[in-house]
Parts: sequence; C-alpha cells; structure tokens
Amino acid sequence: MIALRGRTLAATLDVPLGRELWRLVEPGPAAGPDEAVIGSSAGGGALTVRRSTDGAAPGAIVLPPHLDHLGAGDIVAVSPTGSHVEVLWRARSPHNSVLLTERCDNYCLMCSQPPKERDDSRLLRRAAALVRMLPVGTAELGFTGGEPTLYADGLIALLRTTTQCLPGTELHLLSNGRRFAEPGFTADYAAVGNPRLMVGIPIFGTEPSLHDYVVQARGAFDETIAGILQLGRNRQRIEIRVVLQKHTAPMIVDIADFIARNLPFVEKVALMGLEMTGLARANLADVWIDPYDYRAGLAEAARLLHHTGIRTHIYNHQLCVLDRRVWSLAVRSISDWKNEYLPACMSCSVREACGGLFASSARHRHSEHIAPVSVG
Ligand code: SF4
Repeated sequence: MIALRGRTLAATLDVPLGRELWRLVEPGPAAGPDEAVIGSSAGGGALTVRRSTDGAAPGAIVLPPHLDHLGAGDIVAVSPTGSHVEVLWRARSPHNSVLLTERCDNYCLMCSQPPKERDDSRLLRRAAALVRMLPVGTAELGFTGGEPTLYADGLIALLRTTTQCLPGTELHLLSNGRRFAEPGFTADYAAVGNPRLMVGIPIFGTEPSLHDYVVQARGAFDETIAGILQLGRNRQRIEIRVVLQKHTAPMIVDIADFIARNLPFVEKVALMGLEMTGLARANLADVWIDPYDYRAGLAEAARLLHHTGIRTHIYNHQLCVLDRRVWSLAVRSISDWKNEYLPACMSCSVREACGGLFASSARHRHSEHIAPVSVG
C-alpha cells in the first residue's frame, strides 16, 4: 500500500502559497511557476519540497516519511500554508485516476467511495488544472466519482479540455450511466469527439428489482439501460462492469447472457471482485460472498461473453480462487498503491501473473481458499 496524502512535518513559508497544484522537479537553474523543487537543495522556484530525512529549511515543506516515495514528475496538491500534501499524479504509475466528485445519485450497497452530499466542485476545477499540467505523452487517465455526470456541462467541458491537452491519452470515465438516458447530454458527450474515450457503467441485474436494490435507487436500472442504448446509438465506446457480491454473484450467468443478447455492441465487460472498503465494509454481512463459491458461475459467464466476441476481463480476483479455464481473462487490475499479497503468496508459482489483493481485503476479508499454486 502506497500512501497518497499526509500532514507535512514542517512548513516554513513566508506567505501562503498562491497556487494549489505543483509538479515536482529535480533541482535546476529555474523552476517554472507551477514547479516545486524536490530535494534538499533549493532550486530557485517558489516552493521546495524536502523529504523527511532532509529536515526543515526556509521556503520549504518537509514531507512525512510515508510520502518520501515522491519524485520528479509527480504532481501534488499543497494546502495554502503547506501543512497538507495530497498526491494527484504519480509519474511512474500506470494507475492514475482522478476523483471528480463524491456526490452520486446511486447509493450502492458495496460502494468503495461512499457518496457525500456537499458541493465539491473544486474537485472538477482541480482536475482541469491537473490535466493542463500532465505530459502530452500520458498513456492513460481515469476519471472517477461519485457520479461525474452530475456536473453535466461541467463534465463535458473537462472532457473537451482533456481531449485538447492530451489527444493521445486513453481516457476512461466511470459512471452509473443514468444521465446518458438524456439524448441531449449523450449527444454533447459524443460531440467531444474523442476516439480514445470509454465510459465504464455497472449493471447489477437483468431487471429493475435486483439492480435498483443494489444501487439503492428506484428507477436506476431503466435509466442505466436507456443510457447504454443511447450511448450505443451515438457509437460511443462502452465498458460494462459487474461487481460480484452476495446478491449479484448468483445471477452472474444470467447477467452475462443479458449483456450478450441485449447489449452486444459494448466493447468490453469487466467482471469484478469486491473492494473491501467504504460501504462494502459497513455492509459486510449483506454483500460478502467468498469468490471461491461463485467460481463456476464466473467462469461460465466469462466464457459466454468471450465466445460472444465481447472483450471480457476478470478484475480483482486471485488466480487461486478462479477456474483455470479463465485465467487468461484475469487482469492485474488492482492499482499498485493499494495492492498487497498474503504471506501464503510468497511461495506461489503464479504470483507474477496474479493481481493479488486489495490492501483492504488483505486486512478485513478475503477468500478462505487463497493458497499457493504450483504449476509444474
Ligand atoms: S496464492 Fe497469492 S499469488 Fe498465488 S494465486 Fe493466490 S493470491 Fe495469487
């Protein structure tokens, strides 16, 4: 687990910082206005960021030890007084995603980012500022929530900015899909005209009652399916996500069949294991199921979708609890900063290929059947 925020050990700034986002650079002759020098020697910029072992110095902030991993190319948000640092971009990580809002019109039983009803539009403005600072060669970028489409035109503007600044970047947006039921909104989304943009939308059933129960919102299923169909009409790239938990896992083959029959135009389906954080932990008894117990259904569903010609991936599952026939569809999907392995994994012969566990799962709940695999 890699920490991404913390309180600084010291901040000796003459005046409050005039900007929030800083790109970390090696000491050099002159740092740009959005660049902070990282290291023990000052580089002439407006801010110096020192590691915990470097100690305090005038005009500098000192990172806590758990943020000493920061280096040149990373982008951080620093509070005006320099007392807090949040990592927004890790240059060496392939898993960078940007939270746009904590608001949502669903309230999923197992949500890893429990919704909060408050104005956090500063996150949208911050995302736009971040996008302008990213290198043009950025390979991938994800936008998450909450529900980003609640911003409506604000989200469309961010997608336009991102498309202009990062034309070669693979862009992934997570959404519950409901807003796409509005033809005008989906037309605006399509008009962004970014062929590298894909939206990931969850489905939790084949009819309203199960889906609406899981997302705790009446009418959500009908809107989500209408949104997916509207996106399809506009020839947009769609990923369907199915999170497997106590209520959805027994239905996984039916859900796969529903997708194959009714939504064959989607580009990709991700069959996902639970992240044991947020509401999933709060509702543990209502959502937890051991992945070993649904492995036969998961394998059947994945093979059904795969043979239909839809790109199918299995996310967040350990190889030792998966049917070997679908190992080739399993992806190392857990972001590096929250990825862990158990002591049992140390002697496992497929560890390099296995995605391991969420740190939260390693700590709070994971399959009883995790055991080293020997492949002769
Ligand atoms: S023992 Fe660990 S590394 Fe091996 S398959 Fe299971 S979770 Fe993966």
